[in-house]
Amino acid sequence: MQHHDFSDSPATCVHCGELAAGPCARCEVPLCGACCIITEGGTKPYAICRDCAANRGTSLQRGWTAVVSWIALPIVVLVLALLVLGALFGGD
Ligand SMILES: [Zn+2]
Ligand SMILES: [Zn+2]
Repeated sequence: MQHHDFSDSPATCVHCGELAAGPCARCEVPLCGACCIITEGGTKPYAICRDCAANRGTSLQRGWTAVVSWIALPIVVLVLALLVLGALFGGD
């Protein structure tokens, strides 16, 4: 059995040092299943770290505003693109 280099080992939770289950959805620090905080801020729940949860507080309004802007912006771009295409190909 080869010597294992632990610098290349899976990440450990920033809060308790246990083997991380996945990264924080906001700041991407490694988190274990016990320390992550599940936040339902969209179509599916996602896990964030305690620091991000504390920074966000209990208000989901700002998060929702960001999500809405992320959804609305591509739609606005798409509509503008369709209008441009319509002007280019519809004028003939
Ligand atoms: Zn942990
Ligand atoms: Zn975080």
